[in-house]
Amino acid sequence: MKRIIYIPFDHLHRNFGALKAANPKEDVIALVESARMTSGRNWHKERLFFLISSARHFAQSLEEEGFAVEYVQAATTIDGLQTAQKKYPALPITCAEPSSFRQFDALQKYGVTFVENDFFLTPRALFKSWADTQKSYLMESFYRKQRVRLNILMEGSDPQGGAWNFDKENRLPPPKKYEGPAYLEHARDEIDNQVAKQLSHTPTTTWATTRKGALAQLANFIKNHFAEFGPLEDAMTSDNWALHHSLLSPYINNGLLHPSEVIKAAVKAFNSGGVPIESAEGFIRQIIGWREYVNGMYWFLGPDYRENNQLNANRKLLPLFSDPNATQMNCIKETVTDINERAWVHHIPRLMLLSNLALITGTNPQEFLEWMREVFIDASEWVMVPNVIGMGVHADGGQMMTKPYAAGGAYISRMSNYCKPCVYDPKMRTGETACPFTTLYWDFLDRHKEAFAKNHRMSQQIFGLKRLSDVPQLRERAHEVLEGLSAGKI
Ligand SMILES: Cc1cc2nc3c(=O)[nH]c(=O)nc-3n(C[C@H](O)[C@H](O)[C@H](O)COP(=O)(O)OP(=O)(O)OC[C@H]3O[C@@H](n4cnc5c(N)ncnc54)[C@H](O)[C@@H]3O)c2cc1C
Ligand code: SF4
Repeated sequence: MKRIIYIPFDHLHRNFGALKAANPKEDVIALVESARMTSGRNWHKERLFFLISSARHFAQSLEEEGFAVEYVQAATTIDGLQTAQKKYPALPITCAEPSSFRQFDALQKYGVTFVENDFFLTPRALFKSWADTQKSYLMESFYRKQRVRLNILMEGSDPQGGAWNFDKENRLPPPKKYEGPAYLEHARDEIDNQVAKQLSHTPTTTWATTRKGALAQLANFIKNHFAEFGPLEDAMTSDNWALHHSLLSPYINNGLLHPSEVIKAAVKAFNSGGVPIESAEGFIRQIIGWREYVNGMYWFLGPDYRENNQLNANRKLLPLFSDPNATQMNCIKETVTDINERAWVHHIPRLMLLSNLALITGTNPQEFLEWMREVFIDASEWVMVPNVIGMGVHADGGQMMTKPYAAGGAYISRMSNYCKPCVYDPKMRTGETACPFTTLYWDFLDRHKEAFAKNHRMSQQIFGLKRLSDVPQLRERAHEVLEGLSAGKI
């Protein structure tokens, strides 16, 4: 044997990363299930189940191919690698570049050598060369470059369909009593059952834990959901927990699917007709635009970026984030219940409900970030940090997004069916039945009006604030709402 190839739990693809050039006659494969990863924090058990079972299935598939596989349970990754090296002394360890600063640092110090991380479509250096030339790092500019560079949805130098973006067509509210096609279920096998037992967890059938299951999920999305993805992508409804979202992020993030495979399937379906451009473009933008941009920004902005708290937000994490019974806000109750059930909600509840609430209540960004990291099936450091610190709670002073995504109840009422049965009224900003989102939205603008006055993209909102005649009552109600939320009573 010539070397040990270390496979982190988010590099589970045979044709990418360090495995691309692997050979069962020369390479030993090491995977480490570290206690830090499994029991170090209050991780959602569905998330742990998914990550561990996927890794064990992957290890099994490598054994079946003839590799010697060391699947080690250890206190830390480095302890696990030491165990593998005791069995194979003097073999060097190779790995694809890890996906977080912390792991990069730890493995480098231990002497692991890296090959390029090709689990993304954009090399880190290429992203940096784009970012270095930008005044503000607009996702839209990056995305257009990607479309041209990767030659996706292009007609010569023009975008297919005559526009780069069809967002206007993609903002429909949810239809009434919307059922949609049945969700794909993934049957559990022996390995799944062992992991479930180890975690004392009863897993859902929502998430696949094998490459075969991930491919089935991709095929199911393309066949049953892709055409309708766009128009309803921002809608939220208690009738249908995923609408037409792909549910592919966990697999693209842990390596069971490569983004190029997802894009290939999407482009093929679009080219064969039947998928409207607004759905095709909307979905492709998420993969070649948002996902690549977020990863690029993580590496570009550096390891200290996650500590930003430019709005000086110091409220402790609200109890409603972990206990849906600690609030009467129907939208939050439904969302947190969904998360508790399957460790997933789509991007609008993440942004316009959870992050928006953290933003306008002045919740400490790092406490909120840690909670988001723990509860989502697809959460990784590289993706959570920019999404939460930059996009979600605007803690970076606008480095990533030019203005905060703050909104009141009117937006939530328009885009969901949550408000009708709620005890609060999205139109009210003062009084006992005022929607906490509406009250706190105006209070947030009021608290930060001096800072936001310098931002021309906020001028309309600040102008709206100046026209309010009930600011004293609003402040009073905001104080009550914040106290009530912290006490789990609102
Ligand atoms: C505050 C906040 C936190 C988020 N945290 C995560 C996270 O921890 N992990 C994660 O994978 N995504 C995260 N996202 C992005 C997005 O919400 C999820 O990727 C998406 O909901 C996953 O479901 P899906 O696969 O059905 O996505 P779809 O709606 O079907 O989108 C397709 C794919 O696009 C990619 N994508 C879309 N938006 C983003 C984005 N902003 N960042 C990165 N990838 C994106 C994902 O790979 C996703 O699978 C976050 C977004 C916000 C606003
Ligand atoms: S009224 Fe306000 S709190 Fe209630 S569901 Fe609507 S947005 Fe949420």
